[in-house]
Amino acid sequence: MNKLNIVLFGPPGAGKGTQSELIIKEFNLTHISTGDLFRKHIGEGTELGKEAQRYMDEGELVPDQLVIDMVEAKLSENHTTTGFIFDGFPRTVNQAEALDKLLDRVSNPIAVTIALEVPEEELKRRLLERGKTSGRPDDQNEEKVNTRISVYLAETLPVATYYKEQSKFSSVDGIGSIEDIFARISQAIASHSTI
Ligand code: AMP
Repeated sequence: MNKLNIVLFGPPGAGKGTQSELIIKEFNLTHISTGDLFRKHIGEGTELGKEAQRYMDEGELVPDQLVIDMVEAKLSENHTTTGFIFDGFPRTVNQAEALDKLLDRVSNPIAVTIALEVPEEELKRRLLERGKTSGRPDDQNEEKVNTRISVYLAETLPVATYYKEQSKFSSVDGIGSIEDIFARISQAIASHSTI
């Protein structure tokens, strides 16, 4: 059976988490949010959580191999799913290449990468607003928010080129109501998938 694998791409604060929830319901996918998985490890006090927290607290990326191993475990735990939505992963070209290799093994490549486009000022506003209630230390401090956006521009943006070169990239305007943005995403998925 052909699975529908989607990467939801975009800077911190673009709305990936919110839109993932709607996409999962509509397309019956398994959510792999590397940020959520790390926060779960931190909550459970695992070794991986302790290691990841050092980077997350600074707004830096967790080293690739830790992320890739964690995703590999998640993929094999859920091998009967109808597809995955990757949220906040891959965040480096190295991670994107590793993901392609993992998906090659099961002959189910990425169908499309959907990029949520939101201007930088709006991202900062949203993240600091979210920080008032999310309890996430990396949302509560302007300097850390700035670091996360710089890290995105330097390390994650090249991932867009990686998928553009494979003709698996679609940009979506991330400004508007949750429903309107979801409608744009659904359209982009429909035009890239056979489901
Ligand atoms: P997020 O919830 O996606 O905003 O991720 C929160 C933090 O977790 C990031 O700022 C990184 O420190 C770490 N993180 C999440 N996903 C990744 C990833 N794919 N690669 C490296 N670090 C990650």
